[in-house]
Order: sequence, then structure tokens, then C-alpha cells
Amino acid sequence: MKLNTAILHGPYSVDPATGAPLPPIAQVSAFSHPSGERMEKVFRGQAPGFAYTRLGNPTISAFEQRIAALEGGMAATACASGMAAVSMALLNILRAGDELVATSRLYGGSLSLFHDLEHFGIVTRFAASGSAEDVVPLITERTRLIFAETISNPGLDVTDIPALAALAHAHDIPLIIDNTTATPVLVNPLRLGADVVVHSSSKYINGSGSAISGVIVDGGRFVWDVERWPTLKNYCQMPKMAYTARLRRDLWENFGPCLAPQNAYLNVLGLETIGLRVERECRNAAALAHALESLSGLRAVNHPTLPASPSRPLAERDLGGLGGAILTFRAGSRERALALIGKLRYAYIVSNIGDVRTLVVHPASSIYIHSDREEMERAGVYDDLIRVSVGIEDIDDLIEDFTQAAQAVSDIE
Ligand SMILES: *Cc1c(COP(=O)(O)O)cnc(C)c1O
Repeated sequence: MKLNTAILHGPYSVDPATGAPLPPIAQVSAFSHPSGERMEKVFRGQAPGFAYTRLGNPTISAFEQRIAALEGGMAATACASGMAAVSMALLNILRAGDELVATSRLYGGSLSLFHDLEHFGIVTRFAASGSAEDVVPLITERTRLIFAETISNPGLDVTDIPALAALAHAHDIPLIIDNTTATPVLVNPLRLGADVVVHSSSKYINGSGSAISGVIVDGGRFVWDVERWPTLKNYCQMPKMAYTARLRRDLWENFGPCLAPQNAYLNVLGLETIGLRVERECRNAAALAHALESLSGLRAVNHPTLPASPSRPLAERDLGGLGGAILTFRAGSRERALALIGKLRYAYIVSNIGDVRTLVVHPASSIYIHSDREEMERAGVYDDLIRVSVGIEDIDDLIEDFTQAAQAVSDIE
């Protein structure tokens, strides 16, 4: 089965208890058991069943199973937000004194998290790109993981995942990839060599901007050495399961960032159309980027499918020729950028991505407000940059809208 068929007809498509094609919403905190003995078995993991929603819930499991299958992973763990997923994915294997290497053109929230982790004694070394020449000099004997985004947001660099995975594995380090912006429709990073994948499923997986959530997918292939990752030492009897076992039984359970059952349901619903939506959004983004290039007053239009993009060959090779549904451009000045987004009729000014509606944001005054200038420029964020998350609207309407907005602000300095 290919992607769209597999989503609808995969092994988890029907609820075995009721025959419901969508999972019933178990909107409860805890589950009852016929006897204390039976409850003990569930708690010991010797009988199937659920005890308490922070630890597991059938609606959340339905979402996790679908995502694990869609990403080609061994297991998935859902979280209350994408940031919860990124933090849990890292803290599961890091301790004070450890280091990680991350590319510097990352989602602002992740940059902010990495700074926060310094308070816990965890140091991030930022590589200018995911290339060997930028990454290798930053690897030390304390490095415990490498982190990158498939398509960086908003820099729009496509990471060479096979090369970065090979490099990480040559140093016996796992590669964790944030696949939010590319989605499983474009690529499965686990199949390209990544070891763990995280998503902000608030974005393309949900699809309509109706719930915040995140998910961690474990490829189940990395062989963890408990000398180097001591947090996993209680799970070394099953080395390839160690990552998810420790996550579910210790860290994630103890920190408590579980997803709400209602939101898991909304994500399962969103997933059913992810193939259609994302493909349409990517094609709209490529067409809009192409059209924006010819508008006077706009410059540095960026989308991985444009001939001038250095990421184009990787988008061709690894992302099926699609470059994601985000594009950016520079309006010439901060004033003109803010005026332009105010003139758009269809695009909403919203600091989100992955919605069916087209969304625009001025990153320098919103999502990067906590970054200093140097960090912004390293992430590819400038005072006049506009980020567009392209939706499923009719492309002619989008092109017309951006054209009239660009004309309307052309005499602003
Ligand atoms: C939005 C986003 C996150 C954070 O996700 P939330 O659901 O907002 O917590 C992480 N990584 C990327 C690439 C994102 O776009």
C-alpha cells in the first residue's frame, strides 16, 4: 500500500472493540478494572489495558500507532505539544555534563529550549549547517546526540539526512530529526538513517490548527551503550527498545506531558487527509514562490524548489521534488513587510504553520522576539522577512492577493 491507502486501510484503521473506523474518544482520566488482581496485572504490564491517561489511553494509542506506521518507526509517544516532544526526546538520553550538536537554523522554540537546557548542565554546540565540515569539528567526547530539522523553519535548508546519519553513526551518536515541516508525506527520516523523529503534530498532522500536540517516533535500530547513555541502564536487557522503554516508564511518565484524548482524536482525523493537503500545499507554495519572484519590491524569495535554492537537489533527491509548504521572502524594509501582511485579503496573520488556510508572519517581531540579532541572522531571520505557510486555497487567488498587496505597499520605504 502507498501512503494514502495505508492511512485509511492500515492495521489500525478499525477500533476492534466497536468496529468504529475512527477511534472512539476515551475522554477520561482513569480506567476501571473488574478486580484488584486484574488492576495489578495491568500495572505490571502483564495484561493489556489502561490504568491512567497520563500513562496511556486507547484514543492516544490509536494516534501513536498510526504515526509509528506512517513514519516507519517501532513505537511512537504522543505529547501535549511539539516542544514537549522535543524536550522529552532529548532529556530521555541527556544528563548534566553532556553535549549535543544542533544545526543553528532551527525553529525559534527549539533554540530557546537549547539555551534553557544550559541551566541543567546540557550544552548545545551550534553548527552553521548540517554538513560534515560544519558538524565534525563540534563533536567532542561528551557529544550524545545530533539534532536537525528536515526542512529548517524558517531558513528552508533541506538537511542531507543520509549524510548526517552516516556521520553521526561513524561517531556512535544518534541522529534526532524534527520532521514537522517536511511531514511523512515528503519523507521518512528513519528510512534515511535517522534514529528518532519528532513532530510538532500541531502543524501538518493536525492540519486545521485545531489542537497543540507533539509526537516522538523511535526507529528502534540504534544500539545504545549504557556506559555513554546511563539514563537507559535499567533497560539494557532490550537494547533496541531501551529508548522508548525508558521514555514511557520513566521520563515521560514522570514529567507528565501526555496528550489530551480529544486532541489525539483530532489528529487521527487530520491524518486521514494529510496526503492530499500536504501535496496541494507544497504545489501551491512552489507556484506562489515562482510568482513572487517576478513581483517588483520583493527579493530573496526562498523555497527549496526554486532554481536558485541550494537545497533544490536535496528536495529532488529526498523529498519527492516537493519543497514543503513554507516560503519566505524579503519585503525591503520592516515597515513594508508589516504593511504588506496587513494588505493581504486571504492570508491570516497567524504565528503557526501547517494549516489549510494560508498564514503569514513577520518572524523578527513575533516568533523570534526572544532571539538577539546574531541568532536571528544565523537562523536566516531578517527585519524585512515574511514567512508564508501556504494553504489549500486556489492558487490563482493566492497569487492575485500577494500581487495586489505588493503593489499596495510599493511606495513605502
Ligand atoms: C511548531 C514547531 C515546534 C514546536 O511545536 P509546538 O506544537 O508549538 O509546541 C517544533 N519544531 C518545529 C519545526 C515547529 O514548527
